Amino acid sequence: MQIKCSHCNKMFAENKDAALAGMFAIHNEGLNHYDATCPHCQHAVRISDERMNETYPNWEAEYEDMMKRATEFEKKQAKLAEQAAENKGKPKKEKKKRKRNR
Ligand SMILES: [Zn+2]
Repeated sequence: MQIKCSHCNKMFAENKDAALAGMFAIHNEGLNHYDATCPHCQHAVRISDERMNETYPNWEAEYEDMMKRATEFEKKQAKLAEQAAENKGKPKKEKKKRKRNR
């Protein structure tokens, strides 16, 4: 979804997966907005749950779908890692997940 930052007035596209996770949080934690982070100025941009609902009317189904995809992806990755370990017989390098510490 396209979002206009209320701080620097620049447009940016919010990642759909992140938005769906945000919807899940809204639904489960009784929030009334979703905070997107502006990539230009790093400010949190508040998006109302109404706007989110309008953008993703089928968010529940899409969220489930996303989780399914994530699980399958992890399974695939685990299998590939297993195979790679068997084939090479040496430990694979661990990829570090980038985390934002803020
Ligand atoms: Zn901004």
